[in-house]
Amino acid sequence: MIDLPGAAYRGRFAPSPTGPLHLGSLLAAWASWMLARQAGGQWLIRIEDLDPPRERPGAAEQQLLTLQHFGLESDAPVVWQSQRGPLYQDALARLQATGDAFACHCSRRVLAGHKGVHQRCVAGRARRNPSVRFRVPDGRHVEFDDLIRGVVAHDASSEIGDFVLRRADGFWAYQLAVVVDDAAQGITDVVRGADLLDSTPRQILLQRALGLGTPCYAHLPVIVGDDGRKLSKSLASLPLDAADPLPALRLIWRLLGQPSAALDGSPSLAALLAAAVREFDIALIPSGHLALRTTPA
Ligand code: GLU
Repeated sequence: MIDLPGAAYRGRFAPSPTGPLHLGSLLAAWASWMLARQAGGQWLIRIEDLDPPRERPGAAEQQLLTLQHFGLESDAPVVWQSQRGPLYQDALARLQATGDAFACHCSRRVLAGHKGVHQRCVAGRARRNPSVRFRVPDGRHVEFDDLIRGVVAHDASSEIGDFVLRRADGFWAYQLAVVVDDAAQGITDVVRGADLLDSTPRQILLQRALGLGTPCYAHLPVIVGDDGRKLSKSLASLPLDAADPLPALRLIWRLLGQPSAALDGSPSLAALLAAAVREFDIALIPSGHLALRTTPA
């Protein structure tokens, strides 16, 4: 637990180090930073390096450097999830002790015949290394009030089903780690991309089972190409020019529905960031996708 006394509002940005920071991740980082600053609160960076097969060496350091060039620095030492296994193990043991977590031998292939939703074990044979899942009881509904999208409701048992906490390959699942860390870091407000909207009910269920509070959530619109598809990682590397941060920030500002005039007369990064904190209005953020032209007119 990091001790940051007196912080009523505590936000965070939690990138996975799978490649360079792209426009979509910068949008999430900057929006969460602006809201934290507006609230007079703190903003933390957490590196979610839990999935070595998908990670690229040096990507986390590069992401941190890029964020720094955009003026976005963590108010506390950066937390690395790869070093926090004992915390996740402890939470898992508690869930196993209460019967909320169970060993599961079902493979993704066998679950494909059940729309990928695990409601009961259907594995024909035992696997040497079972995964561990969280049990979502039949009929369990989850509802939360998103600051951007309003009330979001899920029928967790039929739409989500029992979800993985520790993978069959032994790695920790994002859902468990994020809940443990948001609580351990005292995060009050989670501001992130709407591609994670389906994860939120899982995280709320875990918070309840572990006796943890639920932070406020705000899910930002996702940037899509003009073909309507999510920007691929390669395209998303729409070069973030760390040496010249202002154009990307102005573009994100417009994508977030904010009036461009508000940033006029801010020639330096420091001036632009200060004006943005003053002027940013969460109520103007569109809730649909943000289309970005990716092909020549
Ligand atoms: N690490 C996740 C990602 O990069 C984000 C986690 C979160 O913000 O909750 O997609």
